[in-house]
Amino acid sequence: MNEKILLVEDEENIRKFTRINLEREGFEVLEAETGEKGVEIAEMENPTVVILDIMLPGIDGYEVCSILRKSIPNTGIIMLTAKTQEDDKIFGLEKGADDYLAKPFNPKELILRIKSLIRRLKDSDTSIIKRGPFELDLNAKTLKKNDVFIDLTPTELSIVTLFMGNPGRAFSRSELLDKNWGADYIGETKIVDVNIRRLRSKIEDNPGKPEYLETVWGTGYRWKKD
Ligand code: CA
Repeated sequence: MNEKILLVEDEENIRKFTRINLEREGFEVLEAETGEKGVEIAEMENPTVVILDIMLPGIDGYEVCSILRKSIPNTGIIMLTAKTQEDDKIFGLEKGADDYLAKPFNPKELILRIKSLIRRLKDSDTSIIKRGPFELDLNAKTLKKNDVFIDLTPTELSIVTLFMGNPGRAFSRSELLDKNWGADYIGETKIVDVNIRRLRSKIEDNPGKPEYLETVWGTGYRWKKD
């Protein structure tokens, strides 16, 4: 599916030229010439990214940004500023913009910014965690390694979710017990080791020499930082 980009800009020639460049990159382009229209289309079409001019007739880009941040918080926003003053950029970022670009801009630069923002948006999509060869889908409750599903028990899934969501952070056995089994299991740290061993046998190439789920001597375990 093509990513939808909404262009909110009152100058027709800028819209036209930006549209041509974005379409050439395979984006689906929507246009709005006022802030009000921009809000309406954005809320209806839910674009991946909104390119938002600041100086617009009617409500300005800052205000549009504030409105969209509340109504469609997962949409990326890049502000176009005619001015280069630091204040305008900071004001835009304070209003919730993800990035800004000073006009006149090079379309290649805009495309790079859009692509990098889309990558960041995807990374922060919390329903999927990707680390190394692993892909954890929190909604579907599945784990894949190199695109192959790994069968996990609910407990193993809850352990791996904790680790993959906190790479580099060491968890003690009692912490793992508390977070995965609850207060009734206090002191039964062996149950942690058994589950870790089983998990390693499923996710590691060589469970005797774990590459992903490391032992932290004297503490517990941690997921290797990517
Ligand atoms: Ca303008």
